[in-house]
Amino acid sequence: MTTHMEIAILGAGFAGLGMAIQLKRRGVRDFVVFERASEVGGTWRDNTYPGCACDIKSDLYSFSFAPNPDWTHKYARQPEILAYLKATTDRFEVRPHLRLGHEMQRAEWDAGVALWRIQTSGGEYTARVLISGHGPLIQPKWPDIPGLNSFQGQKFHSARWDHSVDLTGRRVAVIGTGASAIQFVPEVQQLAGQLTVFQRTAPWIMPRMDHPTSEGRRRLFRRFPLLQRLQRQWLFGVAEARFLSFTHERFRAAAESIGRRHLEAQVSDPTLRAQLTPTYRAGCKRILVSDDYYPALTQPNVDLVTDAIREVRGNRLVTQGGQEREFDVLIGGTGFDATHPPVASIIFGTGGRSLAQAWRPHMEALHGTTVAGFPNLFLIVGPNTALGHNSIVYIAEAQIAYILHALSYLDASGLAALEPIPQAQAAYNAALQEKLARSVWVQGGCTSYYLDDTGRNSTLWPERASRFRRTLRRFNPALYWGLLSPERPPPLLTHPRAAK
Ligand code: NAP
Repeated sequence: MTTHMEIAILGAGFAGLGMAIQLKRRGVRDFVVFERASEVGGTWRDNTYPGCACDIKSDLYSFSFAPNPDWTHKYARQPEILAYLKATTDRFEVRPHLRLGHEMQRAEWDAGVALWRIQTSGGEYTARVLISGHGPLIQPKWPDIPGLNSFQGQKFHSARWDHSVDLTGRRVAVIGTGASAIQFVPEVQQLAGQLTVFQRTAPWIMPRMDHPTSEGRRRLFRRFPLLQRLQRQWLFGVAEARFLSFTHERFRAAAESIGRRHLEAQVSDPTLRAQLTPTYRAGCKRILVSDDYYPALTQPNVDLVTDAIREVRGNRLVTQGGQEREFDVLIGGTGFDATHPPVASIIFGTGGRSLAQAWRPHMEALHGTTVAGFPNLFLIVGPNTALGHNSIVYIAEAQIAYILHALSYLDASGLAALEPIPQAQAAYNAALQEKLARSVWVQGGCTSYYLDDTGRNSTLWPERASRFRRTLRRFNPALYWGLLSPERPPPLLTHPRAAK
C-alpha cells in the first residue's frame, strides 16, 4: 500500500525538525518526517563521544523561535542539545508526523503524475514535495591506510563511539586532530594508560573560555525572553565580525597571533610546541576552540606523533619513519565525507538521473537549496551553505523560510512543480566559485573536508551568514521552470499567513 503525503521531509535533525515546525506553525498537517533512527536529533543523537559539545555559543546555536533560557553552559554539551531537540519536537507537536525507523531507500520523481515515489524501510509513500534535511556531516570517514580494516584491537569512529569499550589503563591510538578529536582527547587522556595522538596537520586553536551559566541568568532569561533575544543578536554580531579574519589580512594575522599566544601559554616544551604550530593560514580549515586540548597533550601518558601512518599490522600502527607501536584501541577522529552525501545516490530526478550523477564532478545547487533536474526537491544545508564562523542553524532557518516562499509560490501559481533553470543555477555557482577561488579556504595552504576531490570548495558559503539570509529573502520565480498539471493541485500551505 502506498501512502500519499503532500510533503515528505527527510531527517529529524535541526534542519528537518525546523522545517516540520514551520509547517506546523502555518497549519500544515499533510506532511511526514522520515527518520531512520529511533529518535530525533541528527548529528546530536549520533555523536555521543565524551566531551562532545557545540563550539558555537548555545544562545546562538538554537532555533530563533525556541530560545532555551536553561542552557547550563555557554557551550552546551551534546546531551543537553539532544534534550533541547527532543523537547522542541514535543513542544511544537511534531511527533505525530515522525516516521521513526523509516530509512529512505529510494526517491524517484514520477513526471507523469508530478510526484515523488519514495521507498522507505517502513513502507512506500508518494509526496509532491521532498525536503531533505540529511545534513552534510553524517557519513563517517576513515582514511585509506593499508591494513586499517584488519586492526586486531578494538576500533571505532568518533561519530559511532563504542561506549562498551573500557578505555581505563588501555593503550589508545587516536587518528586525527579536528573539531571532534580535540574534544574527546582530553577525556580519553584521563582514562587511558597510554594515549598516542596521530596528527597530520596541526589545527589553529583559540581559547574557548567556557563557563557554566548562573541560576540568576537563567531566571532572568526565563522572565524576560527579550533579554535572551538581545544576547543572541549580540553573539550573532560578534560571530559575523569574526568573518573578517577570513577576508582581511590584518584580522587574520590578529587571529593567528591569538592562536600562537594560546599555544605558548599552554605548552612550554619547545619540541611539542613546534609540532603543534600550524603551517597554513588560519581559517583555511575550521578554527577550533579549546582550553583543555593542549594541556592534555602535555600529560605524561600522552604522545603526539606527526610522522604519517604507513600501515596497520595486526594491532600495530607503523609510521613512514618505521616507528611501530602496539595498541588495544584505535579511535578514528577522521571526520566525515561532506562532498559525497549518501542520500545523493538514492534520489532520482527527471529522466531517472540520480543526484550523485548530477553532482559529478561537483555538487551544486541554486541557493544551496534547489537542483536543476530535480523538481520539487529542496535541500536544507545543501551545497555551499556551511559556515566557518557562525551558526548553521541560522542558515537552515534562512533556507526553511525560502522553501516556504517557494511552496507559497506553487500555491499561488497553481503549478504542479518547479525546478531551477540550469543557466540560473550555473550563473549562481560561477559567482560563488569566483569568490571561493580567491578565498583562504582554497588559497590558505591546506586541504580540508570543505574541498571535493578536484579541490573545489562545494561546501562553504563564502560570505557572512546575514548575506545568505538576504540572498534567500525572496523567492524569484524567474530563476525557475514551472511544471503545469491538467488540474490545479491542492494547496501545500493552508495557513493564511503562508500566502503572504
Ligand atoms: P575533521 O575536521 O575533518 O578532522 C578530521 C581529522 O582527521 C583531521 O585532523 C585530519 O587531518 C585527520 N586525518 C584524516 N586522515 C588522517 C590520516 N591518514 N592520518 C592522520 N590524520 C588524519 O573532522 P571532525 O573533527 O570530525 O570535524 C568535522 C566537522 O564536524 C567540524 O569541522 C565541524 O563542522 C563539525 N563538528 C562540530 C562540532 C561542534 O562543536 N559544533 C564538534 C565536532 C565536529 P588533516 O587535517 O591533515 O586532514
